[in-house]
Amino acid sequence: MDKKIEKLLVTHASVNKDEECCGFVVLDNIKQLIIIPCENIYSFPKTGFKICPHEFLRIKKKYEIVCLYHSHPASSCRFSKKDLDQAEELCLPLCVYSLQDKSFNIHFPESYSTKSFIGRDYVHHFQNCWKLVYDYYNVNKNAFDKVLIVGKKSGASWVSERAVTAQALFNDSQEIQSEFDKIKILDIADQDPFGFI
Ligand SMILES: [Zn+2]
Repeated sequence: MDKKIEKLLVTHASVNKDEECCGFVVLDNIKQLIIIPCENIYSFPKTGFKICPHEFLRIKKKYEIVCLYHSHPASSCRFSKKDLDQAEELCLPLCVYSLQDKSFNIHFPESYSTKSFIGRDYVHHFQNCWKLVYDYYNVNKNAFDKVLIVGKKSGASWVSERAVTAQALFNDSQEIQSEFDKIKILDIADQDPFGFI
């Protein structure tokens, strides 16, 4: 996650440590990544969150939403069933910050449509080089059964079995991201689809 955004999310989550905070990470009109904190209107804010639908629509009209975020004040950064359902319903990636674990988690719902490959904005962890490769194979998953991406220097690897393990995607991606120029794609059908080795 973008360090500046991480800091802002931690700050928002710490304003009221007993209740879940919520809001959106968006790209503004000059393509800058910012956060839009929202009011948590859920009746039991210690254990859940809800954003006013009018506020959501207002933000959606004005900005390009990168993800919906919220905090877990007293539980781990694992998503609840309700969190996952909500992401699926809104067709938006979900980010959680756990005050207990002091860590983040990101989830891409199945309903989230793949952004165009050409002209896509770079957004750290959400729309990065890694996600571009991932989406390419995800979209073309019927053409490839298995894809292995290996960071030459670190040896960090990621195997896609028809690209269904979205949550595991980010485990090694930081290392691989830093080696982007050296990424090697091993695939029987297409050894070098993007022209980099
Ligand atoms: Zn949650």
